[in-house]
Amino acid sequence: MNNDADPDCIFCKIVAGRVPAKKVHEDDQVVVFHDIHPWAPVHVLLVPRQHIVSMAEVGPEHQALLGHMMALVPRLMRELGVTGGFRQVINTGRDGGQEVMHLHMHAFGGPRPWQRG
Ligand code: AMP
Ligand code: ZN
Repeated sequence: MNNDADPDCIFCKIVAGRVPAKKVHEDDQVVVFHDIHPWAPVHVLLVPRQHIVSMAEVGPEHQALLGHMMALVPRLMRELGVTGGFRQVINTGRDGGQEVMHLHMHAFGGPRPWQRG
């Protein structure tokens, strides 16, 4: 399932407002919220409103969305007080360490040491 909300998907539920999350940004394409188990002082997840399973399902039609996600992070990091740099990570599939099968980008920042990453 690529295009519609998946009723069993935790991130679709957060996007729909049916499961609570500490949201930091919302627009017509993405919802951004704090990771429930942060690895760094700032750890947010950028989640497309659309249920795309992973980067393995991405095609040319998703270029604008992915560009938007990449380019949104610098602004969000500034707004969250991150001044020393940050990391953007997308895990894909089992071997890529993806646990939630709804495409998302991690953004990590804040002073080190971090718990992971
Ligand atoms: P990944 O391994 O890339 O699929 O990462 C999934 C991330 O989602 C993990 O860092 C989890 O801590 C995070 N996560 C899972 N459920 C929730 C939730 N309900 N609210 C916020 N973050 C979550
Ligand atoms: Zn979903």
